[in-house]
Amino acid sequence: MTGFRERYLKTVHHTIERYRLVEPGDCIFVALSGGKDSGSALYTLTRYVEERGVECRLQPFHINLGFPFSQRVEEVVEEQAEFLGLSLKVFHASDYGVDMERIAKLPRPICSSCGLVKRYLMNRLPRELGATKLATGHHADDFIVFFFKNLLGGNLEWSSKFVPKLPTRGKQLGRIRPLFFVGGEENRRFAEEVGLPHLKEDLCPYSTYGCGVDRSKRMWLEVIDYISRRQRGFRRRMMTSIMRLAETLSTQRPETQPLRECRICGEPTSGEICAFCRLLEAQRRVD
Ligand SMILES: [Zn+2]
Repeated sequence: MTGFRERYLKTVHHTIERYRLVEPGDCIFVALSGGKDSGSALYTLTRYVEERGVECRLQPFHINLGFPFSQRVEEVVEEQAEFLGLSLKVFHASDYGVDMERIAKLPRPICSSCGLVKRYLMNRLPRELGATKLATGHHADDFIVFFFKNLLGGNLEWSSKFVPKLPTRGKQLGRIRPLFFVGGEENRRFAEEVGLPHLKEDLCPYSTYGCGVDRSKRMWLEVIDYISRRQRGFRRRMMTSIMRLAETLSTQRPETQPLRECRICGEPTSGEICAFCRLLEAQRRVD
């Protein structure tokens, strides 16, 4: 094994161990998007469970959003699960009333609707199937970008959930982020080196063309890259500080507001009707 691969696995496995991301008896649903990040998360979790002999279940799953390119994405996700000898569960957003073609016509950014649908189904479906935790491929760069954006926008408290592990809260399934201390480029290199199948580029036409969210993220990624090349351990130190800040924020402002349940679907929400049900309602009004 190369030095890089060994160091990468050591960092990720140390994160899993130190923050108790995997515990005996767990049923962990791992969300796959076909990319290098979620693929690496599944790979490292699988290796960890094998090496340590932890009695738990890893269940990779994918949400097919029903775009014209979704079939291609599903194929790659299928290859990833097969590569690791695991069986994949695929859910179709259309089975839950979602019609992305209609949603694309709504006067709201498609990327935010898409994210909303994914977040909702990623919480509800695994939980209904007995998941104890949800694992995602979010990595250090994602958190550093959001952290800077939140800081600049004056929304410091939005960073309070930037930790490797969030416990289950009512119907809100607990989250684990094994890639918390590694960056996107490291995930790409790792996936390449171990030969893990993954999509080399983002197939979504909406994110490639003119999505402002994406352009600003790219700019931040360049900034992070620029600093990392000049300052050793930048990502790790940033992440340690962001995590400490998140912990301070959540002790100072404990979540006193109990989560409510959506009047229509029963899923957790801060209001009376959840954002997903409101989106479906708006979708019905599109002609
Ligand atoms: Zn709802």
